[in-house]
Amino acid sequence: MKPRILIIYTGGTIGMIEDPATRTLRPFDFSHLMDNVPKVKMLNYHIDNIQFDPPIDSSDMSPKHWQDIAHSIAENYDDYDGFVVLHGTDTMAYTASALSFMLDNLQKPVIITGSQLPIGEVRTDGEENLITALQIAAAVDSDGSPMVQEVAILFEDYLWRGNRATKRSADNFNAFKSNNYHELAKVGLGINFYHESLMRHQCAGGLNPQYNLDPSVLIVDLYPGLSCEMLSHLLSTPGVKGIVLRTYGAGNSPTTEWFIDQIRRTIERDIVVLNVTQCVNGGVHANRYVSGDILSAIGVISGFDITLEAAVTKMMFLFGLGLDANQVKYYLERPLAGEMTIS
Ligand code: ASP
Repeated sequence: MKPRILIIYTGGTIGMIEDPATRTLRPFDFSHLMDNVPKVKMLNYHIDNIQFDPPIDSSDMSPKHWQDIAHSIAENYDDYDGFVVLHGTDTMAYTASALSFMLDNLQKPVIITGSQLPIGEVRTDGEENLITALQIAAAVDSDGSPMVQEVAILFEDYLWRGNRATKRSADNFNAFKSNNYHELAKVGLGINFYHESLMRHQCAGGLNPQYNLDPSVLIVDLYPGLSCEMLSHLLSTPGVKGIVLRTYGAGNSPTTEWFIDQIRRTIERDIVVLNVTQCVNGGVHANRYVSGDILSAIGVISGFDITLEAAVTKMMFLFGLGLDANQVKYYLERPLAGEMTIS
């Protein structure tokens, strides 16, 4: 039996061509993409495709698009062994994180990839990324079950857990990295999977997709010089239900009275505040320093070592379930899809 793979082409550099008039890159349709990768036929897989109409630059990605992707996977779940999502790199880690929460109890591979150079270019990384992503989507373990049973990002030499990855380079072929989690696989002459890093589900039953997302989430980034007035404007943004507070180091913030007061009053208005570090590596240790300790005492929730992308999309997902502030806080402190390690 040939492996059956569904490709969902959303857009991104991988499928772009140069506009002769403006010399800028714009998305092109799927047939252009596949015409440039004749080697795909050598894999001898059964491959079907779905394409965004029109394909988009991923800087235009939105929660509505994540719902479309999740629908495409859920509606075709039983008919395919694996799914490959072709996506621009700019917001790939957000999409991967969102899907990891939405596709509850996923037990098949959803491999997201793209490229830094368009697939029609001589030195493109797109051909290799596409072929490797297809091979990973078709890979099986010794017992015949899918090797990857989660949302993952394949880029150049590595397979990363989707909700642990971050785009780290606008120029290098190895554009993604998980700063706090071991790679799921290393790609070299072969594809070397790290079994101890791969997600294995205990739950019986099939996919349990959740489509509702509530984007009432705001990111607030700390920096020396942020004034009381500016912070006050941000925190009183109408309609906000959750705030990702990007703090220094181990989860630290100013200890000035006006700062702590504003955060406290925000929490009293039933707005959930999640503490996520600005550091690329490591996480929040709420009680290591006085300032972190104060934040946790007034009700700021620790994001541990979660990425910004996973923090934002997890909040959208939890509010999308219709949970109240206390329920959201409860789930923020617990990993739902392997997105953080509790310290
Ligand atoms: N702007 C492009 C996108 O994210 C960049 C890329 O694909 O690498 O769609």
